Amino acid sequence: MVALALNETLRILSQARKERRKALLETEAKTICMEYDIPVTKFKLAGKAAEAVRLADEIGYPVVLKIVSPDIIHKSDVGGVIVNLKNAREVRNAYKKILENVERHKPAGRIVGILVQEMAPSSTEVIVGAIKDPQFGPALMFGLGGVFVELLKDVTFRVAPISEQEAREMITEVKAYPLLKGYRNVPPADIDSIVKILLSTSKLVMDHQEIKELDLNPVMVYAKGAKTVDARIILE
Ligand code: ADP
Ligand code: MG
Repeated sequence: MVALALNETLRILSQARKERRKALLETEAKTICMEYDIPVTKFKLAGKAAEAVRLADEIGYPVVLKIVSPDIIHKSDVGGVIVNLKNAREVRNAYKKILENVERHKPAGRIVGILVQEMAPSSTEVIVGAIKDPQFGPALMFGLGGVFVELLKDVTFRVAPISEQEAREMITEVKAYPLLKGYRNVPPADIDSIVKILLSTSKLVMDHQEIKELDLNPVMVYAKGAKTVDARIILE
């Protein structure tokens, strides 16, 4: 029992393998992150609107609601994410709305439940990723969120495992790095917390080589600490 409790990651990976499922659910990916000390938003899974309200009360407002489905990888594309819900009524409405949206965009999609999670205050967003290169094996990726990665391809890679020195280099060598040092009324971001996430991610993909892709996108970085808002893990 104790051994099982200590290794949720193995349990989740073997469950996915058994179901021949390549994409882990956000709940599963975030549970693995937690076991590797990667900070994530608090989350709880609801099966009914009333339960979502009870969980939101526990977590504290504002909250975010998200669809959890093995058939939906990009949740916002199907209207499966609603942020900034400030009270029970908004949670109840959002719960209904997400199910309607999903029914419209993905009628055959299996639904595990609706995730209720803490709303991370907006801040500088970074992306930590990993891919398994057929030649070099696991490699880590780092970049700043939004246009920097998507439009400007301002990202950097290192073959895993990485050292702390390499993690620091990855952060300082992207062109957008000055944004992390603070500007105008934005305080400097907690670089050490990003270093820790990169090192933990490196350990995770080295320990579990069946991970083909990993995507922590976005990670909100604060003056103190950081928080992963969305996590995706794809298996080979
Ligand atoms: P997907 O990438 O599958 O569409 P996300 O979980 O990334 O879904 O949600 C979409 C966007 O909603 C995120 O990029 C982020 O801007 C916002 N978001 C999601 N969850 C949270 C959260 N817990 N706190 C704050 N913002 C969030
Ligand atoms: Mg996302």
